[in-house]
Formats: sequence, structure tokens, C-alpha cells
Amino acid sequence: MPIDAKQPYDEQNIFARILRGEIPNKTVMETDHSLAFHDINPLAPIHVLVIPKGPYVSWDDFTAKASDTEIADFVRTVGEVARATGADTQGYRLLSNSGKRSGQEVPHLHVHVFGGEPLGPMLA
Ligand code: 5GP
Repeated sequence: MPIDAKQPYDEQNIFARILRGEIPNKTVMETDHSLAFHDINPLAPIHVLVIPKGPYVSWDDFTAKASDTEIADFVRTVGEVARATGADTQGYRLLSNSGKRSGQEVPHLHVHVFGGEPLGPMLA
């Protein structure tokens, strides 16, 4: 069910639970402010989710409230994931759904990193 990007942060959402270690994940990398892990239902050979550790629902929530340090860490982690997975060698796609009309399902900001094969027009 798509979520409302303006809803309050839900501490019980699945990515909050992953961050607290209550649900396992396949970590690609972790920094002070960000976590990158493989999507449970990959739509491409490389499909990694990058999330900030702070409680941000959506891209607009994050950029309105997060510190410059968190934002820089998050953006850099996305690039590092592309390099660490090899997605950078032949091209990749970044996608971040925010809110109902985009189809965002998990109410914790995430960027999808897709790669590893020629990509069609849309994913996720
Ligand atoms: P959205 O549609 O919100 O942009 O994407 C949510 C993504 O989270 C989906 O690609 C979905 O497969 C992924 N996902 C949902 N639950 C879990 C989970 O428990 N673990 C992992 N690793 N990914 C999840």
C-alpha cells in the first residue's frame, strides 16, 4: 500500500526494524549515517537499497530536516555502493519513490541502486 510522504515517521516500519537489528539484512556497506543492503526482492542483478540511519520518511523530509553531514554521507554512500557492487562499470540507475503517487511502500527514505544488466524504461 503506497504511503503518504507527509505522514509522521513510523518507528515500526521495516527499515527502522532493520536498522535496530530486529530483522536481518544482507549489508553491502555501513557508515556513521547510512546503511546499504540488498533488496529482498531484486528487480535486477544488482539491486541495493541505501537508507539514512535517521528517521526520515521521504526525500523531501530528509532534505528539510537532515544535517549537511547526514546528507553528504548518504549521497557519498550511494556512489560508493555503485563502485563496490561494480554497477558503475557499465551503467546503473538510481530511483527514490516519495509518497503515494510514486508508489513508495516503505515509509523510510531509500534510494534503489539498479545495475548489472541493460535496464528497461522503469523499475520499482
Ligand atoms: P519502494 O516501493 O518503497 O520504493 O521500495 C521498497 C523496497 O523495499 C522494495 O523493493 C522491497 O522489495 C524492499 N523490501 C521490503 N521489505 C524488505 C525487507 O524486509 N528487506 C529488504 N532487504 N528489502 C525489503
